[in-house]
Amino acid sequence: MEYVTLSNGVKMPKLGFGVFQISKEECEKCVLDAIKAGYRHIDTAQSYFNEEEVGNAISKCGIPREELFITTKVWIDNYGYENAKQSVLKSMDKLKTNYIDLVLLHQPFSDYYGAYHALQNLYEEGKIRAIGVSNFSPDRLADIAAFNKIAPHVNQVEANPLHQQVNAQENMLKRGVQMEAWAPFGEGKSNMFKNPVLKEIADKYDKSVAQVILRWLMQRNIVALAKSTHTERIKENFEIFDFQLSDEDMNKITALDTKSSLFFDHQTPETVDRFVNMIEERKGRI
Ligand code: NAP
Repeated sequence: MEYVTLSNGVKMPKLGFGVFQISKEECEKCVLDAIKAGYRHIDTAQSYFNEEEVGNAISKCGIPREELFITTKVWIDNYGYENAKQSVLKSMDKLKTNYIDLVLLHQPFSDYYGAYHALQNLYEEGKIRAIGVSNFSPDRLADIAAFNKIAPHVNQVEANPLHQQVNAQENMLKRGVQMEAWAPFGEGKSNMFKNPVLKEIADKYDKSVAQVILRWLMQRNIVALAKSTHTERIKENFEIFDFQLSDEDMNKITALDTKSSLFFDHQTPETVDRFVNMIEERKGRI
């Protein structure tokens, strides 16, 4: 495993296992498979509806808690100071742990300032080892870093070969914020696993396209989260620490950047509407 050191000195495993869109029924087994394969970093969220199952796996896996790195994210409907604070304590219960390694604000909408103050407070009380945000564009990140006592330690954003976030990463570096990549495979959109450039590079190293993508993120010093419900793929995605991409191959991947999201742009009014609807749909389930 490779690690990054956050601006507060906390060590974070560079590769994590993501549990978005893993059902309650499958989640505990998938996390146990991942831990068995060697992952020590698990990424969940209040809005994934599987924190309890992640907690079951944490308590059953036999690995000491301090060797694991657990992230969760506060859902928008739990924003505002008091709600956010209570929701993190509830997440801690579900995860069956008395501290969380990293808590992120899931989206830059509604009262995220109040919620961020709650994270700062929990951090100062020692209940959270690092705090951060997710899906914050460079301007929102600059704002929250400038007007708070503690700048976010991490910003988790979409990043994959077709949407590389080079400028966003430069902005994070300037502010001491660690970049973390969600959807490193773009969930397979735009035929990512069959991309001819990635396939040619993968064949050259006798690796898969998924492994090449994760290796490319490691070499850009980005923490990456990979999700799979298949044991073989979970193992495959972990086998990325025994090879190095050459500068030439890194540059070939750089040339694939389209500079636009494979999902949606976070900075449009339609996206705000989409999240307002999502809050309604998820009410009472979190
Ligand atoms: P992803 O990791 O880019 O892609 C997952 C997809 O790739 C699944 O369909 C999976 O299929 C497939 N896959 C995985 N490994 C493979 C392999 N070796 N070969 C072929 N197919 C493979 O997408 P993601 O789950 O959206 O993102 C990863 C994690 O990032 C999430 O789980 C979550 O923790 C985080 N995330 C955060 C946000 C945010 O807003 N902060 C948003 C999205 C995701 P199978 O499962 O069928 O194997």
